[in-house]
Amino acid sequence: MKAEVITAGTELLLGQKLDTNSYYLSGKLAEAGVDLYFRTTVGDNTGRLKAALSVAAQRADVIIITGGLGPTVDDITRQAVAEFAGKKLVLDAESEKKIRGYFSKRNAVMPESNISQAFAPEGAIIIPNECGTAPGFILELGTVIIAAMPGVPMEMRPMMESAVIPFITEKAGGKREAIAHKVIKIAGMGESVVDEKIRDIFESSKNPTIGILAHLSEVEVRITAKAGSVEEALKMTEPLKNEIYRRLGPNIYGEDADTLESKIGGFLKEKGLTVSTAESCTAGMIGARLTETEGSSSYYTGGINAYSNEVKTGVLGVDSKIMEKYGAVSAECAAAMAEKCAVLFKTDYAVAVTGIAGPGGGSTDKPVGLVYIGIRAGDKTETHRFLFSGARNAIRQRAAAAALFLIVKVLRGYRQGKGGIAGE
Ligand code: AMP
Ligand code: MG
Repeated sequence: MKAEVITAGTELLLGQKLDTNSYYLSGKLAEAGVDLYFRTTVGDNTGRLKAALSVAAQRADVIIITGGLGPTVDDITRQAVAEFAGKKLVLDAESEKKIRGYFSKRNAVMPESNISQAFAPEGAIIIPNECGTAPGFILELGTVIIAAMPGVPMEMRPMMESAVIPFITEKAGGKREAIAHKVIKIAGMGESVVDEKIRDIFESSKNPTIGILAHLSEVEVRITAKAGSVEEALKMTEPLKNEIYRRLGPNIYGEDADTLESKIGGFLKEKGLTVSTAESCTAGMIGARLTETEGSSSYYTGGINAYSNEVKTGVLGVDSKIMEKYGAVSAECAAAMAEKCAVLFKTDYAVAVTGIAGPGGGSTDKPVGLVYIGIRAGDKTETHRFLFSGARNAIRQRAAAAALFLIVKVLRGYRQGKGGIAGE
């Protein structure tokens, strides 16, 4: 099966909004084993959207459109698809009820224009919108399937997953090839080092294939296999996965949807342990990431943005002699911050960060990018020194990720009965 994606929205062409829908849809189609050969972006213009549809219909079996399903004058997708298909727009009673209900539940007065969203080309299957008002629809036109969804990514994604993918998968019958990915998540190691360690597997492997994706402070190794079914394809990734674990084991923290914070959360929750944060140069970034995981209140008690020296000493309680002797950016200060934090917040673990994010404030001794991270685990404290590169925010994000990875390593130590200290 061949698909084509059309994203509608003048804001996308003007560079005011990033077309993340194309990116997302591409991934989902690949996952479903559907080939995607073209992506088109078109402004909010009925004629041009119809032209794009007509080109797509000649070379694709499935056309997926996002955007332009709202209630405003520039939302022309419904109209353009109907005109292109030679169908009338008809009112879907169920959608109308939902849209009215959406407003009355919020005690809001509904502008009548919203009802335009309840119309769809005659014969279309309606895709309900669980996160907003505009429903989507699937229209079969001869052998071509047209699926239209709203532009709002949060509304579109569930529709793609619950309705469009199942629909086209079923249409494709048994003919499709499944593509499966296994993603291995790596921290504390740069892209080029990862590459060096697994380059030979990369070069020698055709199915599965390996891809390396570098993020700011993490690296992902993606193993992709094609087979008759997802299960089979996943199974094919196993030998490569095991080899990658053998080579990069200590730096691997998880797989697929795992994040550093979700791994930490899962472990702390399971063991009934708690963590707190004392952050200087990251000023809350670690706390923010730790609380991105659902249920974090059961293991994250709180944190302090000890940004100024006054707060480090006055509120957190770091001995001012430490500050005078070693400076705020020092292993000693990071250690004291972590120790005081664990006491203040009554947690089993505490992580502290102090560093120089720049661009100013660096010296030969203590250059921009120098970051100390302290970890308190039970009655032990350890500190780690890092020299991060990049601009101010990159340094801060790298510091936050490094702190999280240190917690992962400390917890790994706990699991292995090493008294809860990471070591190396
Ligand atoms: P629409 O459904 O066209 O009314 O779009 C609603 C919202 O979704 C607007 O804020 C758009 O900027 C956003 N949006 C539309 N298309 C895309 C896209 N391809 N990628 C990301 N956001 C989009
Ligand atoms: Mg729009």
